[in-house]
Amino acid sequence: MSALTELSREITLCRDCVLSKNRTKVVPGEGPDNAEVLFVGEAPGWHEDQQGRPFVGAAGKYLDELLSLIGLKRESVYIANVIKCRPPNNRDPLPVEIESCKKWLDLQIKLIAPKMIVTLGRHSLARYFPGQSIGKLHGTSKEIDGIICYAMYHPAAALHQRKLRDVIEADMRKIPQLLDKKNNIVEQNGIDTEERPEQLSLF
Ligand code: URA
Repeated sequence: MSALTELSREITLCRDCVLSKNRTKVVPGEGPDNAEVLFVGEAPGWHEDQQGRPFVGAAGKYLDELLSLIGLKRESVYIANVIKCRPPNNRDPLPVEIESCKKWLDLQIKLIAPKMIVTLGRHSLARYFPGQSIGKLHGTSKEIDGIICYAMYHPAAALHQRKLRDVIEADMRKIPQLLDKKNNIVEQNGIDTEERPEQLSLF
């Protein structure tokens, strides 16, 4: 069993916060162990809680469509959430819940070692771009610990506000270019030597 599969098992046993009381299933995340791109959403919704899989409801269908715009299938990327259990009535996750669940995403990032993390929505954004607004930052990236962190709106936001569709689709289309740039740097230098801001760390 891979270390990532083992980690997923461990996550499904977690009882570290109150969300474990009412969940149906934990949603650790899914995708290949060596995915280049990790998408990080907010929290499981009703469908995800029923199935134990991320982004399988309406927002997930739209995420699949967004991926297909750039020729990606969901099986080729890793999809996870900031928190792994559904908050009651889909309320926003509380800071204490986010803090309690942080260790799982940290470990997932360590094991997957993606080239790029795409934050979907403001809770995921807050982790990598603290104190910043998604309205300003969407479609922009910064490198943290050698990983490109790229901000996007949440697909569910585009479902509810149709004018955001053009924005989120345009932002999605920027991903291949960012990845190519990253791959070229690594290829040319053997290692990624692009300048990294010292004060930024994922963990
Ligand atoms: N919204 C999320 O943020 N995550 C999911 O897994 C589903 C919907």
